[in-house]
Amino acid sequence: MPPGWARSGSALLGLAWERSGGYTAENDDASGDGGPDSGADGDAGAAEAGGDPDDGASSPGSPAVALESVLDRLLAVEVADLDESAIDVELEAVERAMRRLDARRCRLASAKTARRADQAQRDADATGQDGRRARQRARRQAEQEMADQHRWSASDAKRATNVGDQLGDDGQTQAAFDDGRLPPRHAQLLADTLKHLHGDQREQARRRLLDAAAEQDAREFGRTCRRVLASLDSAAAMRGEQRRHQRRRASVHTTEDGMLAVSGQWSGVDGETVATAIEAFRQPDPPGVHRTAEQRTADAVVELARAALRAGEAPTVHGVRPHISVLLDHEAILADAAAVADGQLGAPVVADTPWMGPLPFAEIRRLLADAGVARLLVDPNRVPVEAGAETRNVPAGLWRTLVARDHGCIADGCTARVGWCDVMHLEHPYHLQGRLSPANAALGCRHHHRAYDLHGWQIHWDGERPRLRPPPT
Ligand SMILES: [Zn+2]
Repeated sequence: MPPGWARSGSALLGLAWERSGGYTAENDDASGDGGPDSGADGDAGAAEAGGDPDDGASSPGSPAVALESVLDRLLAVEVADLDESAIDVELEAVERAMRRLDARRCRLASAKTARRADQAQRDADATGQDGRRARQRARRQAEQEMADQHRWSASDAKRATNVGDQLGDDGQTQAAFDDGRLPPRHAQLLADTLKHLHGDQREQARRRLLDAAAEQDAREFGRTCRRVLASLDSAAAMRGEQRRHQRRRASVHTTEDGMLAVSGQWSGVDGETVATAIEAFRQPDPPGVHRTAEQRTADAVVELARAALRAGEAPTVHGVRPHISVLLDHEAILADAAAVADGQLGAPVVADTPWMGPLPFAEIRRLLADAGVARLLVDPNRVPVEAGAETRNVPAGLWRTLVARDHGCIADGCTARVGWCDVMHLEHPYHLQGRLSPANAALGCRHHHRAYDLHGWQIHWDGERPRLRPPPT
């Protein structure tokens, strides 16, 4: 079920609950005459309800009051008393009713904004003002009013009005929407497609799409709509593509609880590029690890970012290639090393990063296994006064040696290739002055490097070759 539908559905039910209390007297009057079908020949009453809810909705015998009464009867039945087949039957009926009511809501919203726009046009004509701008302003005001009154979001109000507008001159699509065959999201997609087409093409598209709508979920139906439009009118399809391109967006920000949040949407070839790149870095779970789909995607994005930084194609900033930088207190590192040598877990050292802020030393320890190190001299207020040259602690020769020996991650059963691997220090990684050699270094993928540093995985030597295994259970 598309999310927009769930939202509008719950809004409808919410209103029904809130109002049901105040209708007892009128309910008794109205409940006898009109079933749900009475709405079909009650256009005048309901249109009045849309134009002025206070008068129309409360007059006894109006379809809107009958609707409340039916809902009251429905909601009076305890769900706990229903057996499963009764639940299925009622779910089906409620689902269909919500679609039909949503169709009604769209028509009401459309009628209200159209009337306001017409009134504004007449006023503008009478005073010699710009009619088109007056219409737009009046429409926006009407949408805002409905949003405020019914606690819709601004986009809900716009959607309802747009769908109502676009279906207004299309009797067959409107009929399918009205009788509950089209969920609201489908109706919107269909209306958005048909508005670009005329004559025979429009008829042809409508037939194909109404059939497809009966079988496809909203995402698949959207694809069908775009395919049909592109096959009938490539210029209109391209205009749609350009409008989607305008709606591209992405945001990257840090949250108050220490996460980096990334979200975004892209269209066309851009979307295909982003999805292909993320997919390329998606890896199967290592043995014994079960990640959710979201976790796999999150890890793929990290690998993609690491590959991009490694490739050295990113723009430089003042001649420096972009890379992760971490600010560490030298004395604190030494204190931590001393604590570990003393048999303790470590000293409480805090590392500072530009984006993520303060991080515990254990989190960045694996970075130190293969890093450029530069000394930064700071004054007593921690303002840098002098920077030393950067030196790498994994020389290229050592890297080549490890690649030749390990071929990839050394964890049992792991298939991560060299390109996915870090250098792991097989002894305390933050003895920065200590020299690395093949005897105390090995390749590990990001997952197993973390497992080794944080979760007690252990190195076993198989002759000259190190292997990484989970801790004994
Ligand atoms: Zn691995």
